[in-house]
Amino acid sequence: MIGLSMISLGNNFVATLLGAVFPRFCVTCGAEGRLLCRACSETWWHEPPAAVAGHAAFFAYANPVVRKLICAWKYDYDVSAFEHLKEQAQDLLPEFKQAMRKLGVQAIVPVPLSDRRLRERGFNQARIIADWLAHELNVPVLAVLERTHRLGHQAERSDEERRLAMADSPFLLKISDGLPSTVLLVDDVWTTGATMQAAITVLESAGKTKTFALTLAKG
Ligand SMILES: [Zn+2]
Repeated sequence: MIGLSMISLGNNFVATLLGAVFPRFCVTCGAEGRLLCRACSETWWHEPPAAVAGHAAFFAYANPVVRKLICAWKYDYDVSAFEHLKEQAQDLLPEFKQAMRKLGVQAIVPVPLSDRRLRERGFNQARIIADWLAHELNVPVLAVLERTHRLGHQAERSDEERRLAMADSPFLLKISDGLPSTVLLVDDVWTTGATMQAAITVLESAGKTKTFALTLAKG
């Protein structure tokens, strides 16, 4: 627990320091102070996109505030952007937790970044989302996927195409067994779904694991 509070103290300290050097402006009205000022935060209207089979998201990526907050987090390293999104997702958490328990989700798997991207960015946003949700659900995070240098094969309908997709996958599974029967794959944004689908194919390749997907936002 000491470790955790030290981390949040560290983050706040860094945020305060950065705030002093680089003042923040509200992504909606431009007022100086916070990334989403209190007035805009209170009037910000959003609703989760409709869940499709096996995939749910907290926010619609088409919502400009969502897009700006995610970009501020990923590309400007502004942790307060993620804190805003978490705050806004609070109301959705009870329903989310209930759904995950019903599905029998036993662990959370983050979509990995390539080593190069991880070095550039310094953090994997999917891992941070996974840690948050794992804490909420009281299940472990299993970082069992690794990026390969392959670009991936998108069509995967027949067994043959599935086999080809595996051989050409941008992901590989780091463990040969011991994966729970139901996992939740997590990433920040779902756009075409190709990345998530490739990861699901790998997770389900042994035929013993059912994978559901959750993203912070959906395009
Ligand atoms: Zn504002």
